[in-house]
Amino acid sequence: MSVFVRIFHFKKGFVITILLLAIACLYGYKHVASRHEEKYIAALSWVVANKLIVIDPGHGGEDPGAIGTTGVHEKDIVLSVSKKLATILNEAGAEAVLTRESDRDLSDANAGDLDTAKIQDLSRRVDLANNRGADIFISIHVNSFPDPREDGAQTFYQPGSEESKKLSVAVQDELNRFLANPGREAKPVDYFANRMTKMPSTIVEIGFITNPKEEKMMLDQYYQGKVAWAVYAGIVRYFALSKPAFAVPLSHFTDINKI
Ligand SMILES: [Zn+2]
Repeated sequence: MSVFVRIFHFKKGFVITILLLAIACLYGYKHVASRHEEKYIAALSWVVANKLIVIDPGHGGEDPGAIGTTGVHEKDIVLSVSKKLATILNEAGAEAVLTRESDRDLSDANAGDLDTAKIQDLSRRVDLANNRGADIFISIHVNSFPDPREDGAQTFYQPGSEESKKLSVAVQDELNRFLANPGREAKPVDYFANRMTKMPSTIVEIGFITNPKEEKMMLDQYYQGKVAWAVYAGIVRYFALSKPAFAVPLSHFTDINKI
């Protein structure tokens, strides 16, 4: 073996070792960073206490939403994720209200044609949030696209609504942080529910049902829990950002009477 070949072999081994070390460090950093982030969100969770949050699982009943390559329906995935999100929020002291808790929509059985039924359904979802005076409205959906390579969760907000944009950006940031997301950005879109709700609102498209890998992931209960946690983290961050820096809960003071 010539000196050149030996040096080349040595260098090749060295480079591979460095690469493996770098990957291990990056993985370790990401793991520590996400643990740190989870603790940060947990510490901030008091900001959602007593907030009324309406969660809207899209579609239901006659309307399956998008249909995956294996025949899975959007309506079933979004109901499951919405229930998980409601559980996390309720445990944090918020009041989470679902627009539907089973496989149905909110239109009357004799509403008429599909378009009329759809408008009645969406209007009732919006009315529920408006009449209850919800603090925020979160609509959960699943995306679809002809190209099966499209992937990743994405949030949408009503154009011109600054608060809805802040909420959507906060949720998008956490989706990008907690999921293996391609770094999508919150985008403005004119959508009936976002336009008609009187409070900050966002549509969360949690992934693409037309991407076979993502379709499989979205059926996994653990992954659904991760998605719900990421949306929750975004909601916490939104409320934390909208509070003045000095607004800490009274329970943080041990001797409030002396202040
Ligand atoms: Zn949908």
